[in-house]
Amino acid sequence: MTDANHQKYRLGELESGRDSVLIREKLATDLAKLMPTAFFDHQRIVPRAALMKTLPKLSRLFDHMLDTVMKSSCALCDRAASDVCCVDCWRQIQHCQLDVAGGIEQISLSFGQGSEQSTTRLVCWGAYQGSLKRAIANLKYGQQEALGNRLGRELGRLWIAANAMNQDRSQKPFPKSTLVVPIPLHAEKQARRGYNQAELIAAGFCDETGLRLSPSLLERVRSTEAQFGLSATKRELNLTGAFRINRTVLRRYGLHPAQPMPHPCVILVDDIYTTGATIRAAADCLSQQRIPVIDVAAVSRPRHG
Ligand SMILES: [Zn+2]
Repeated sequence: MTDANHQKYRLGELESGRDSVLIREKLATDLAKLMPTAFFDHQRIVPRAALMKTLPKLSRLFDHMLDTVMKSSCALCDRAASDVCCVDCWRQIQHCQLDVAGGIEQISLSFGQGSEQSTTRLVCWGAYQGSLKRAIANLKYGQQEALGNRLGRELGRLWIAANAMNQDRSQKPFPKSTLVVPIPLHAEKQARRGYNQAELIAAGFCDETGLRLSPSLLERVRSTEAQFGLSATKRELNLTGAFRINRTVLRRYGLHPAQPMPHPCVILVDDIYTTGATIRAAADCLSQQRIPVIDVAAVSRPRHG
């Protein structure tokens, strides 16, 4: 093919009978570069029928190459997967999903003695068991960071569905100043882990809901004992004073801790909701700055009963 015809070929301007032969010739040469000679004889001009028969094979070969080269391994079982998890593992995780009504409840946010009684909505995506429990463990301890965004997006979809139900019941919409705040890790712990899993979940949640992520509004100032095995009272004592507001971040929103309303309101996001002591401590810290927690969203909670 001459340079002039090659240029016309590139521009899609070859239309005559002779030109169509040239197109096939060029196409054959291009394809021959892409596939093994066992499939293709680049010396011949390949008839259209033979070419059409070959293309699906080429497509399958290309898919297989993509599978091998581009696909990462499943975050749970290490098999090749085009998403965070392979199809089987994701199906198992979905078995842990709670239905919209089952994943929503009202919780108390009162923290410690003498604090004001208030309740808020808790939205949980799944039961903390089976493959979801394993996924959360891999997210936290197995460096499987991509799981955080994926689970966060699922949580965001559930939250949207929950709101749609509420709108039917004429409940108030969410203000635009809503901030999505993940439960923070202590700086040392986050440095060891390299990331905060709740922040990854919150980022996925915001991708889905379009709400604003505020990963640093809350800080964990005290490294707390593991909550597991502590009584309810000891859990609250363990968490007293564990959080503080980052005033620099608050000012970045054009807000000052001393200024009157309107303040932003917050949706707290975490990976697991168990007794709620951590959420209550975080909500207590925010309420001292008159920042209300209007919702709590967690990927999982233990199954009731
Ligand atoms: Zn898998």
